[in-house]
Parts: sequence; structure tokens; C-alpha cells
Amino acid sequence: MNQRDHKKILREKKLKATKSRLAVLQVLESQRQPLDIEAIKTHLTDTRPNNVTLYRMMEDLSRVGIVRQIDLRQGRAFFEMMPLEDHHHIVCASCNKIEDIHGCILVDEIERTIKKSKNFDSSIDHVFEIFALCKACKN
Ligand SMILES: [Zn+2]
Ligand SMILES: [Zn+2]
Repeated sequence: MNQRDHKKILREKKLKATKSRLAVLQVLESQRQPLDIEAIKTHLTDTRPNNVTLYRMMEDLSRVGIVRQIDLRQGRAFFEMMPLEDHHHIVCASCNKIEDIHGCILVDEIERTIKKSKNFDSSIDHVFEIFALCKACKN
């Protein structure tokens, strides 16, 4: 898996490549699953931004599309690197285990549906998360 050039990505979006932004992107890239603020903090070693700073940073990174914010119905935001490939998440409604679902079966259907809309003709993004019971919780 190629490591993305975070410095370059930040500069392209006109954000300064600060040490803490680079550290956060490194955490998201290496963990490869959606993380909440607390989980991001536990993986940060050299830099310790407080929650307000970290939330603001995540907002900035989400706004420019470097990071994607995900709602997993857990009352707090989760974040991941903006995926290069469309994928979705399946979340255990009991133990909150998260797994990526690769590929997207929806995108053609979504575009067809939008064509029938009065005011829109195509999408730029979509959100779709799946909630289920994992095998361990089912037993
Ligand atoms: Zn479970
Ligand atoms: Zn999709």
C-alpha cells in the first residue's frame, strides 16, 4: 500500500503542513479504520493537541476533503482518510465493531434515481452505512 504524500495533499488544499496535522493524517492512514477523537489521541505520540484543537483540525481537514467524517450512530464523529475507492462500513449494533465493505453496489442505482429528480442530475458523493449484529454478538 502506497503511503500518500500528506505534505503535498495539505499544500494542494492550501493548509499548512503542521506537525500535528501530519501526525493526525499518519494515524488515520496507518490505522485504516474510522477513528473517533479519543482513538486518534491515543495513537498520537509526539504531539498532544487538546480536544478543541483536534476537533477544529478535523473540521478543517474534512471541509477540504482530505478526511471524511462518518456518522456511525454512536453519538460522536468518526474520521477516516478520504477513500481513493468508494467503500462503506458495516457496524455491529451491539459491540460497535467496524468493518469496511469494499466496492459499491449502489452507485449506478443512485445515479439512475437522481436522473428522475427535478433539481439534480448527478451526485458528487454519498453516505451509506450498514448496521448489523456481528457473528460473535449473535451467538
Ligand atoms: Zn458485535
Ligand atoms: Zn458507495
